[in-house]
Amino acid sequence: MHRIYDLDRFGIVCIEDFNAGAMENKGLTTYNVSCILAHKDSSTDGRFKHVNSVIGHEYFHNWSGNRVTLRDWFEITLKEGFTNLREQLFSEHCYSETVERISEVNFLKSYQFPEDSSPLAHSIRPETIESVDNLYTVTVYEKGAEVIRMMKTILGDELFVKGTDHYFSKFDGKAVTSEDFREALSEASGIDLSQFRVWYEQKGTPSLEVVKNYYCKEKNAYIIVVKQIVPEQDNEKKMPYPIPIKFNLVGVESKKDLVPKSEEILLLKDFEQEFVIKGINENGVLSFLRDFSAPVSVKDFLSKEEILHLFKYDSNLYQKWEAVQRVFRDEIIRAYKSKAKQVTLEEDTKKCLECLVDTVDDYEYLAMALSLPTFQMRIRRVLTEMLEQTLSPGVREIAASCQIKL
Ligand SMILES: [Zn+2]
Repeated sequence: MHRIYDLDRFGIVCIEDFNAGAMENKGLTTYNVSCILAHKDSSTDGRFKHVNSVIGHEYFHNWSGNRVTLRDWFEITLKEGFTNLREQLFSEHCYSETVERISEVNFLKSYQFPEDSSPLAHSIRPETIESVDNLYTVTVYEKGAEVIRMMKTILGDELFVKGTDHYFSKFDGKAVTSEDFREALSEASGIDLSQFRVWYEQKGTPSLEVVKNYYCKEKNAYIIVVKQIVPEQDNEKKMPYPIPIKFNLVGVESKKDLVPKSEEILLLKDFEQEFVIKGINENGVLSFLRDFSAPVSVKDFLSKEEILHLFKYDSNLYQKWEAVQRVFRDEIIRAYKSKAKQVTLEEDTKKCLECLVDTVDDYEYLAMALSLPTFQMRIRRVLTEMLEQTLSPGVREIAASCQIKL
């Protein structure tokens, strides 16, 4: 069902001195000038897109925030995470779905992941605060959106829309909680989402490790064993997260996806789980966590040949971009280690890049794929590891006493 705006007039006010981006007051949304004014002579394409998404965000709040509101401030991710997701889906609908997804992931990894691994780490629904202002964080907004996106991935588009329609009509005019939201989705879909409470209670970015992945010819099956590592929590014991992993196998011979689209999701619920993919008639390269289906980090497990195989043949454009970025990152590290003054790409990398330019005609995507990985996203972790090896124990001790994570 479409979410119809219920007033005769949609009023907006634009303010030069406003200490936020925008605010969804019912009937009169407030905008910082930077989030609503753009001109073709002075604004970039990115600025126009930003204005479009901020207007969408405040408009969507009419339902997710205003008509169905929050029981208390701690529930803020219920309106901000959810509205952020609705804004993202709106932008994916208006522009290139893959380009938008890449931008969202870039932002999350560049700003939310560092917050999640710092002393400021908090769950998307914190239990204590010094001030309400402290609730407006990238974790509450961006990770909050990712958590609801994972529920959408598990339900599928149709059941997710059915579930959110049920939520809006059941709680119209009420002040509710994240549990109410999850229960409404479960009631409408028949799918139990109760384990998702872990995402609301635990802090830090979980990481995934592919412990085993191999093709078993005798059984016509591909076996994947995945482990999740949950960061340290303040007191209570660590619980495993429910993690939807979108994946496929890109045939070594056929170069095609070997798993039907309807079976592309693995649901990891335990600390370690084995998945047996049946009906596989050839070996394939594991294309893991397609479209970044969960806000987690993944330990590198593919060889250079496998990465280049995905670079060339992966049908998932998000994954292809991941492969290109990984190749760039490895080239930069290689140059750094050999103290080279400039990075010279290896021949097979060059061929792959030429192939990418020849086969993809979305220029915005190409520009993104050919950009070097951001410092925060790709290189920081690896360089930090390398740096750590060169530091004396004394320096490490001082860093630890200042709560600086090396
Ligand atoms: Zn908002």
